[in-house]
Amino acid sequence: MQKLKVGDTVQVISGAERTAGDKAAKRGKILKIDRGALRVRVDGLRMVTKHVKKGRDKANPQGGKLEKAGTIALSDVALVCPKCDAPTRVGVRDAGDRRVRFCRKCEAAID
Ligand SMILES: [Zn+2]
Repeated sequence: MQKLKVGDTVQVISGAERTAGDKAAKRGKILKIDRGALRVRVDGLRMVTKHVKKGRDKANPQGGKLEKAGTIALSDVALVCPKCDAPTRVGVRDAGDRRVRFCRKCEAAID
């Protein structure tokens, strides 16, 4: 069972996006998970500016600067538990005939 899913809210716990002196917790929803590269794309985090030529990108026919979420290493983010509102490690346990994820801090099930 996967410990992180698209749509989960995660918090940056280490790496380049968590700069020294910046105490504010950086959180966002997972947009995409690249399990091969072990990286995630998180909404609003690790924004990168792409320079697009006119007509190159159908979504942006004008071209120019484009702000886009870059990727973060999977190991640099932790799931935010909806119950205790803290970044936590995720456990997996059996719940009858299915397996559910749970918060290792407060034991609450996370669907
Ligand atoms: Zn919790």
